[in-house]
Amino acid sequence: MNLAAARALTREDWQAMTARLRPETRLLIDGAFVESIAGGEFETVNPADGSVLATVSCATGADVDRAVASARRAFRSGCWARLPPRRRMEILYRWCELIAAQAADLALLDTLDMGKPIADALNVDLPAVIDTVRFMAECVDKVEGAVTSTAADVMHFVLREPLGVVAAISPWNYPLLMAAWKVAPALAAGNAVVLKPAEQSPLSALQLARLFLEAGGPPGVFNVVNGPGEVTGRALALHPEVAKVSFTGSTAVGKLMLQYAGLSNMKRVALECGGKSPQIFMADTPDLDRAVTAACNGIFANMGEVCNAGSRLLVDRRIHEQFVDRFIAASEHAYRPGDPLDPATSMGPLIDREAQRRVLGFIETARHQGARLRFGGDVPSGLEGGAYVNPTLFTGVNNGMTIAREEIFGPVACVIPFEDLDAAIGIANDTIYGLAAGIWTRDLAAAHRLIREIEAGVLWVNCFDEGDMTQPFGGYKQSGNARDKCFDSLLSYTQTKSAWLRIAQPSG
Ligand code: NAD
Repeated sequence: MNLAAARALTREDWQAMTARLRPETRLLIDGAFVESIAGGEFETVNPADGSVLATVSCATGADVDRAVASARRAFRSGCWARLPPRRRMEILYRWCELIAAQAADLALLDTLDMGKPIADALNVDLPAVIDTVRFMAECVDKVEGAVTSTAADVMHFVLREPLGVVAAISPWNYPLLMAAWKVAPALAAGNAVVLKPAEQSPLSALQLARLFLEAGGPPGVFNVVNGPGEVTGRALALHPEVAKVSFTGSTAVGKLMLQYAGLSNMKRVALECGGKSPQIFMADTPDLDRAVTAACNGIFANMGEVCNAGSRLLVDRRIHEQFVDRFIAASEHAYRPGDPLDPATSMGPLIDREAQRRVLGFIETARHQGARLRFGGDVPSGLEGGAYVNPTLFTGVNNGMTIAREEIFGPVACVIPFEDLDAAIGIANDTIYGLAAGIWTRDLAAAHRLIREIEAGVLWVNCFDEGDMTQPFGGYKQSGNARDKCFDSLLSYTQTKSAWLRIAQPSG
């Protein structure tokens, strides 16, 4: 069912679809669904009610070896890498159409697996996945080399070639989208891929890869291995036949990826990691209501489980009271935790009980450190069976407090007052992260200075979290070293080859 039809479904329709659901749970290796060699399995749980959704095959090192070998074989055979670009493009377009045609099933898998509201899966995730695959398909035959200036008796040219086997290791917060941001450019560039989804949300990636096969993608070009990070992810990132690991996840695990590369084959490492993004509201913020709405969405959308969440709200002291009053009023109606299968729900549970405990722990620490809890901070009543946390606001926060320093990855906003532009820049940059920032002001000179001086990979002025496939997305500092989306992302899955062609001189 496509997106337009899916948007008309009711909660009862989604419940009926859930009851009929028999998701694929095996590994996908060399074009076939297979059990893991050791026969291991793990459970994936619906965080909305704690029920077991499915028991999934767990890949160990032997399965990873098998998947990488199959990808390597497919790559070396040229069945994908040397396919005429327009042909590769057609398969990717067909893949995109199949994803669009099965958008409802894919959205449902992510909602059940990680708790995001079905409305978000349909209105945010799936359209973005479709855009990603379509954009990367469009780019396939736009990859060019160069002929350089050399003496007349030689021709030198630069070729762009795919890398080989790409390992994609993805997180659970946007299961399909984060996988697509890696797999689509890697495939478009002609690589073979082994994807390891997060163990909390293993189901939708198997469907994504199945649809690639259905679209005519050759066996072995797109493999999926599920399993825990320390076992499956580690084996993949250490594998000597993997040319590049493309990782999205926490900064702590991102650092391990760099170690694995150093311990194995110096594979390329692309990192998209955590964030603690500031949104700066100057005293001359235009249309404060719109800005406050963006502030709420920036921290409460997707339950705050967003890498670029605007979790630090830096507010000029002159508008602090108005800002907080309006934020409280706006949040009351906009974000109410509920059943993710209800199309009216705007906030689901966190990913699991452990995340719930961690987020509640941060809230407790904030109280002890003297921050003022303005709303939330607890588990919504009636929803104790799931991993829910109410949207939460703290004021009276300073940038040294734990809630201002650590990535909470939950619906917890903190307001930090500032006195002037210099102070705002100082606070904004006083973090190990540098993924994104928002700036709200009418003053062009101030906006320009903030854009220049804030250490972040993405800056939004008088808006927040806007995007387009043409835009590079990625961080400064410990938020990572990669850029997703955009044409450059595709190029990052290629390497250049420098070729000298000496032209024989005519004899005599
Ligand atoms: P995580 O680091 O725990 O896990 C990410 C992936 O790495 C998972 O597939 C996991 O199984 C794997 N992994 C874990 N330990 C591993 C190990 N020792 N060796 C190999 N692989 C291992 O992150 P998460 O909890 O899944 O996701 C949340 C994090 O992702 C947050 O920090 C968030 O900011 C970040 N994120 C960043 C972006 C971005 O674009 N910068 C986007 C989404 C999420």
